[in-house]
Order: sequence, then C-alpha cells, then structure tokens
Amino acid sequence: MKKSDESLGRIVAELKGKKNVLVATHVFPDGDALGSQLAMGNILEGMGKKVFYYSEERISHLYDYMPGCEKLESRLPKPAVFDAIISLDCGDCFRLGEALEDLREIHPFVVIDHHSGHKEFGDLRWIDPNRSSTGEMVYELAVALGADISYEAAFCLFTAIVADTGSFKYDCTTASTFRVAGELVDLGVKPYDVARKLFDNYTTGRLRLLEAVLGTLEMHADGQIAIITVTQEMFARTGAKRDDTEDFINYPRALNTVKVAIFIKEGIDGWIGVSMRAKGECDVAQLAMTFGGGGHRNAAGYRLQGSTIAAVRTALLPELLRRLAAKGL
Ligand code: AMP
Ligand code: MN
Ligand code: MN
Repeated sequence: MKKSDESLGRIVAELKGKKNVLVATHVFPDGDALGSQLAMGNILEGMGKKVFYYSEERISHLYDYMPGCEKLESRLPKPAVFDAIISLDCGDCFRLGEALEDLREIHPFVVIDHHSGHKEFGDLRWIDPNRSSTGEMVYELAVALGADISYEAAFCLFTAIVADTGSFKYDCTTASTFRVAGELVDLGVKPYDVARKLFDNYTTGRLRLLEAVLGTLEMHADGQIAIITVTQEMFARTGAKRDDTEDFINYPRALNTVKVAIFIKEGIDGWIGVSMRAKGECDVAQLAMTFGGGGHRNAAGYRLQGSTIAAVRTALLPELLRRLAAKGL
C-alpha cells in the first residue's frame, strides 16, 4: 500500500463518525482553494454533517459564482465547538490566516494538500505533490468516503482543477487529472459553463489594467526572464481591483524565450506581493522559499512588508540570474 493510500484511509476512518466539521483554506483563496473548500463542505453536508465554512475575508469577485460561496463566514464561533477541521490547499499553516491559533485548538486537524514545499502541520496529513490540484484529491476522498457528489460539488471541483492546471496545460496535469475531470463531466458539469464563468469575466477596467501592466514589461537574461509590475496608481486610474490581476502573469509566461515570469504587485499598507511562474526545469518554489514564501515547482510566490517594487526587483533579480546560470533553479 502506498503511503498516500494509508493517509487517505486514516482520514476516511476519522471523518466518518464526525458531526460538526470546519473546512478552511489559504488566505487570498484561488480557484483550487475555494473550489476544494466549497466542494468538501458540500460533500460532508450531503453525508448529514454540519459544516462551518471559514474564510478570513471576503472572497474575490472572480470566484463568487461558485455555489456555496454565500455560506462562507469570517468569524469563528466562540467556543469553537467542532469535532474536526479540514485544511485544504494550504502548504503552510500560517497561510490559514489570523485565526490560526483558534483553528489549532480543533482536533483531529486534517490536512489535504498538493504543494511541493509543504511544511507539515496538523494531526492527519494527506500530502501529494504529484496531484494537479487539491480538487483532484477531494474528488478521491469523496469516492473513498462513499459519498454522493452533487452537481454543485462537481462544478466546484471542476473549477478547482481547471484553475490549478491552467485549463489542463501545466506540467502537473496527468492522466488521473483527466480521469477525475471526466467523472465530473459525467456528473453533469459542462466545461463550457465553467470556462465562461472563470475566463469570460473581464470588465473594461480589468482590460485597461492589463494594458497598463503589459506596458511595464521588462526582459532580462536574453529574454529568459520577464518582469511585469502593477502599482496602486494603475488600480486607481483604471478602477480595477486587486483580484483583477489574476492570470496576468500568464502573458509574460507565454513568451517563447521565457523560462521564468515574475509579477511584482504593489499592495496597500506597504505590502508587496510577488508571483512567479516557470517552465520546465526551473523550480521557483525553492526561490520563493528563500524569500519566506512557497508554492510549486512551476508556480510560487511570496509577500513582503515595508518594501518597494524597486527593492524587490533589486533583491530578486541577481538571485534568479545566479540560479539560472547554475541551473540550480
Ligand atoms: P500566486 O502567484 O499567488 O498565484 O501563487 C502561486 C503559488 O504559490 C500558489 O500555489 C501559492 O500556494 C504559492 N504562494 C503564493 N504566495 C505564497 C506565500 N506568500 N507563501 C507560500 N506560498 C505562496
Ligand atoms: Mn491555492
Ligand atoms: Mn492548489
């Protein structure tokens, strides 16, 4: 038996008898995080359990079409009376947000994740970096639980998989990913419906923001590195929101010479966010970890307080060039 089968088996055994479960994911949830969380909750509710959907803050307007979003709550009840917690798509407990210490009081603490640089936490873990997405894992957990998967849960899981595989394009996409996606389509999901909600959602402001951001493109190392940036001034000028930058990094990533694409984002209150995407051999998760972040081989990021776009570029670029030259990325 594989270690992953063993962890899945133990999680199934533990969850079966539980009545009151909290489901959580990482802050600034993306499609996989939110899709996995909402689907997991829906599946558990279908098994007759009470579910609390915890989310630190309001979710991105890009994902608020997902069924179950209205159930997300940002305040934990006191005392937090749950007989299990499931953390989904979270590679580092600190990404669970400010309620971490309260969440840690809940046991068993089940962790389901696919980040390659996963930093272990919780009581029962199923971590598999070979999975395309946490959504793919939640599907398998539902099957192992013998649970029914509703249309709503299937829709959320399909969204999760499409989001983390870049529509089945990234390196993480496997035959298993397609098998799970096929099962979800059999359950009634129309890929076209998901694609329309997930991608055909631009406002004029968002397109104007894209125009401004693409105008910042700079190339380094004979075209191997592309950097784009966004400033608060651009948001103000276009009326677009922070979430509207989602997927912009795929434009520089698509350049034929690029090995690593970087997106430096000026946030509010002195925060700077950095997103990185790599192709093939390059491992940007390692690089992100040296700056206190994490992620996957080909998609990683970090956040810094009290920095500037210029300072981030100055610190990151030499490190990246050094690793590219040494092929150590
Ligand atoms: P993003 O560029 O924000 O879409 O993130 C890409 C990947 O990097 C995601 O899978 C995240 O889990 C991971 N990631 C992004 N920011 C951080 C961070 N501050 N700490 C750990 N992992 C991160
Ligand atoms: Mn995620
Ligand atoms: Mn994920």
